[in-house]
Amino acid sequence: MREILRVQKLGKNHGGYHGETIDIRAVLHDVKAAAQSHGWTSELFYKTGDLELFALHRRPEIGGQKPEARIYISAGIHGDEPAGPLAALQLLRENSWPPDAELWLLPCLNPTGFILNSRENDGRKDLNRDYRHVETAEVRAHIAWLERQPKFNLYLCLHEDWESHGFYLYEQNPDNRPSLAEKMIETARQVCPIDLSENIEGRPAHGGIIRPNINPQERPDWPEALYLISHKARQGYTLEAPSDFPLNTRVDALVEAVKAALAG
Ligand SMILES: [Zn+2]
Repeated sequence: MREILRVQKLGKNHGGYHGETIDIRAVLHDVKAAAQSHGWTSELFYKTGDLELFALHRRPEIGGQKPEARIYISAGIHGDEPAGPLAALQLLRENSWPPDAELWLLPCLNPTGFILNSRENDGRKDLNRDYRHVETAEVRAHIAWLERQPKFNLYLCLHEDWESHGFYLYEQNPDNRPSLAEKMIETARQVCPIDLSENIEGRPAHGGIIRPNINPQERPDWPEALYLISHKARQGYTLEAPSDFPLNTRVDALVEAVKAALAG
């Protein structure tokens, strides 16, 4: 029998995120150690002070074979959303990836934001609105890195929402491929409440799933996901954990949803 989920909102987030923060230097140190111990390679693509933006890469276990799927996962583009980098760390430590997939994992795209516990970087720019008319060094370096990579079959961007009532996600799937959304929600539901609001962030939602009808060309301020769907992948999801819930619940929700997507 399924246990009743007793996890509840903390009620701390008034006007923004007021929950636990993380030491991003320590988390990224642990991320690198976990990645290295499981055979991932790491590529540094931007540095500011001692804070690094880096991409981890894991080849399929069956050497020399064409990968079954190429999957891109990113986290930490908003510095007040600590569950993303922690979920990246947990996934690396669990090390249970599909053996025939090729994976890229970017554990933190906005390290200066985490130092300040702010959504924006230390120049007060929301990096997740900077992917069309690029102004920030972080996004410029990230796009330059993306341009060197092959196309992906799937992208997953890990986020948190300080005012949501539960986990939810956005789907981009312009070619109507088999959706992974319901499966991710069902799996996340085992560990975290789902936001069942009919409207989330001004968009219609059903059972925690938002399928926004966006023409990227009509939007001036691209988030990472619109860059990815325009240039790198034809299917992807932005996962939103509810940051007014306990941190371990949010990390578990992101981890379980990612694993559900990777299982296909
Ligand atoms: Zn976010």
